[in-house]
Amino acid sequence: MPDLSKLELLGWLRESRPARLQELYDWSDAVRNEHVGGAIHLRGLVEISSNCERQCMYCGLRQANQALPRYRMTREEILDCAHQAERLGYGTVVMQAGEDDLLTAEWIAEIVWSIKRKTALAVTLSLGERTEKELRLWRSMGADRYLLRFETSDPALFRIIHPPRRAGGLDRLTLLRRIKALGYEAGGGVMVGIPGQSFDSLAEDILTFRALDLDMIGIGPYIPHAATPLGSGALRPPIAASEQVPAGEEMVYKMIALTRIVCPTANIPSTTALATINRVEGRKNGLKVGANVVMPNLTPARYRSLYEIYPEKACVDESAADCNQCLRGQIYSLGRFAGQGQGGRGAVETLASVLPDASSRFVQLQA
Ligand code: SAM
Ligand code: SF4
Repeated sequence: MPDLSKLELLGWLRESRPARLQELYDWSDAVRNEHVGGAIHLRGLVEISSNCERQCMYCGLRQANQALPRYRMTREEILDCAHQAERLGYGTVVMQAGEDDLLTAEWIAEIVWSIKRKTALAVTLSLGERTEKELRLWRSMGADRYLLRFETSDPALFRIIHPPRRAGGLDRLTLLRRIKALGYEAGGGVMVGIPGQSFDSLAEDILTFRALDLDMIGIGPYIPHAATPLGSGALRPPIAASEQVPAGEEMVYKMIALTRIVCPTANIPSTTALATINRVEGRKNGLKVGANVVMPNLTPARYRSLYEIYPEKACVDESAADCNQCLRGQIYSLGRFAGQGQGGRGAVETLASVLPDASSRFVQLQA
């Protein structure tokens, strides 16, 4: 594993010469190919509730945003989405939501258990900061993975943008360590370009990914939402202009590439937020510089636009079938192939192992 020092990471994060950046992207793509292969894993995303008790300063789902109509999917709707994930050939279903107290531990546990009993899917949960008791229960029901981005490794900035909900709760880094100890595959990650975020802290983010030995690492651009204090400009965390990280796509590509080099076996998605800031090439570019996962949206159409974390989200108007076709088309246009199994960390699929299925799907797409 290349041991990039903090100084080297900072050098790359501040690099802007196109030829040097191309060298970085060629390097990270080669590391991706060597350690996780050409497969791109599809994880079906189901946004099960837009209710949230939190007041994160960056997120449109924050409780104080009363202009946003809220929804909570029923058990049957969620199970239908899981079956659809399986029908579409995905290996994983991801259940994501705000911190919604009405998603009780027992209710989620029964749904996880039902999905695991009736399908061959891996189940990923992303339900915010929940107690260790709840996490243990879901793990015992078969949940495989848990996603909890730590957003930034700068503790002072994190406190400003992510006010604690109650005293004595575990911080996200501690929670991620507990999640791993419970036997989940653990996913962390950050936003890039948060007001107040420094280059130094981005380098620390990458070192933190490595120190936590994360199985999944989600990196996306911060996108301002006008109904939030950070997005409206009402909240301006202090920082020198020369230290402020830009929110553009190039910064995200650099972060994905460096993360791939430093954490070669991690699963790294090319995110919807990246596809939002560059609708034509964003997702493909992420896949070219080190990412190996995409997350097609399975949330029923009537709820999609209500899960408005940030505005103008990509893929809000497409049906699940549209998303599936579009993403598979992008995958094949890159000369890569869709993974067939659950795609956990360390599962390296070769084209030969999936060829009969991949080629038949390609023929379907051409037809
Ligand atoms: N409530 C859970 C949580 O906070 O972990 C899961 C849902 S939350 C909407 C998922 C992720 O959305 C967050 O971890 C954050 O990185 C991302 N997000 C929220 N607001 C965003 C924004 N304005 N721009 C980009 N990403 C954002
Ligand atoms: Fe809620 Fe998650 Fe949004 Fe924070 S980031 S307001 S916890 S949905």
